[in-house]
Amino acid sequence: MPEPIKNIVIVGGGTAGWMAAAMFSQYIADKDMQVTLIESPNIGTIGVGEATIPNIVSFNKSLGIDEVELIKATQATFKLGIKFEDWYKKDSRFFHPFADYGLTVDNVEFHHYVNRLKAAGVAANIQDYSFACILAKQDKFAQPNPNPSSPLGDYSYAYHLDAALYAQFLQQFSVKKGIEHISADVCGANLAKDSGFIESVTLDDGRTIEADLFIDCSGFKGLLIGDAMGVGLEDLSHWLPCDRAVAVQTELVGMPTPYTRAIAKNAGWQWCIPLQHRMGNGYIYSSQFIDNQQAEDALLSSVEGKTINSVRQFDFPLGKRKVVWEKNCFALGLAGGFLEPLESTGLSLIQTALSKLLTFFPDKSFNQYDIAEVNRLHDAELERIVDFLVLHYKLTKRDDTEFWRYCQNMPIPDSLAHKLEVFKSQGQIVMYAHESFEEASWLSMYHGFNVTPQRYDVRAKNVDVKLIEQRLQQIHSSMSSAVNQAMTHQEFINKHCRAKSDI
Ligand code: FAD
Repeated sequence: MPEPIKNIVIVGGGTAGWMAAAMFSQYIADKDMQVTLIESPNIGTIGVGEATIPNIVSFNKSLGIDEVELIKATQATFKLGIKFEDWYKKDSRFFHPFADYGLTVDNVEFHHYVNRLKAAGVAANIQDYSFACILAKQDKFAQPNPNPSSPLGDYSYAYHLDAALYAQFLQQFSVKKGIEHISADVCGANLAKDSGFIESVTLDDGRTIEADLFIDCSGFKGLLIGDAMGVGLEDLSHWLPCDRAVAVQTELVGMPTPYTRAIAKNAGWQWCIPLQHRMGNGYIYSSQFIDNQQAEDALLSSVEGKTINSVRQFDFPLGKRKVVWEKNCFALGLAGGFLEPLESTGLSLIQTALSKLLTFFPDKSFNQYDIAEVNRLHDAELERIVDFLVLHYKLTKRDDTEFWRYCQNMPIPDSLAHKLEVFKSQGQIVMYAHESFEEASWLSMYHGFNVTPQRYDVRAKNVDVKLIEQRLQQIHSSMSSAVNQAMTHQEFINKHCRAKSDI
């Protein structure tokens, strides 16, 4: 019988490290297994990564974390989706909700009926048939109706949370459940001469810590996966134009919105992420078109509240590790690569990678086929996310700056080109395996960028236009009256999960 893994070492105590520790603390509860997290007291965490997507809710739930306690501890607010401003053209707006639109009737997706109406000259906006969009438009929030067939239950939510507080929260959670925490710098990894597996890491205080499995959560540096195992990064800058960021925190002005704002700027885009106690702001940009100082000036001139920290600069390698699992080293978070944060996929990718590792959890024989399968699944997931991100840039009609003219003309992956052309032709949404974003998300983009298909599903023709109009009106009215009953986002927080203001 192959021997089971007995010891795991996690290097790094950022969000990735502590998410891994929290997940392992559950996993090892009934096993003879020891998990140790080593975190440098000298090297800070990235300190951003505050907008999430809905699977963060299920991640915390699976750990048995109380939602209200978590929200209060991390100064979190709710997120119904992302509002995209000035992307299609200047002064254009659209919302990407974590939600479906309308209802599928007779196996024909809802948007075909909307397109049928439009073709008949009736004005119709798909966003009027999403409860989440209507809530967001009015800065309101409600938790989904537990009845899954209700259109008022057909959406999800995520959080905006303070990254440092989230890591702190998970640290307390994990340590309480038996994860050992060492504060020290890892100076290097010691590899077995014959196999090349990592046997141990050496700390700056002279200690050597051995383990069977090593999780590299050391951030962009990739101390184990890169430096020790020699796994390089595959560059993605030919698809993703933005390679730098500046970020600053400000006082909150007005009520926190129940959504992230992503505002297209001259050479990239700006995020506004509202927490209960402050606003996170950042400008992600392409260094080909502006320099750091220009980006910083642009950010500072457009933030609303008073700044509460100094501007931070990020120069990130855009790319993915050629493999995230090599021998007995598994890379998580920024150590595994980085896609820009336009759709807030960073924490989600940590979560899905962890889930794959647990599904294919190794024993000491480290089956190569299992490892290859996890790498294949992870890579496929990244490729689909890259397609989705590239779409945001490619579909712009902005030509007011060199950056946007570049985006309009840049090459795109074949997989994305195929999707786009099928939608333009038939209004059908092509979905590949391992997509992180569902049909409705792709539809939000096509709609937001005004991509009108040449045809709609022929089966939608069988329904009378008047009848479609009536049904759509009913859906919109019932959603609107439910939204009228809902609390504002601020009222909801005040009533259910207000954090202390003295953090
Ligand atoms: P880090 O936070 O960098 O942590 C690395 C850890 O390794 C630290 O604890 C450090 O002390 C430790 N370490 C390093 N070297 C050593 C050593 N020698 N010895 C011991 N310890 C060591 N994701 C989202 O989901 N949503 C977002 O909105 C979002 N926005 C982002 C914006 C920007 C500009 C960037 C760059 C990223 C963003 N991300 C976002 C990604 C997200 O921030 C990361 O995925 C997440 O924070 C995980 O980071 P990490 O833990 O891998 O790395």
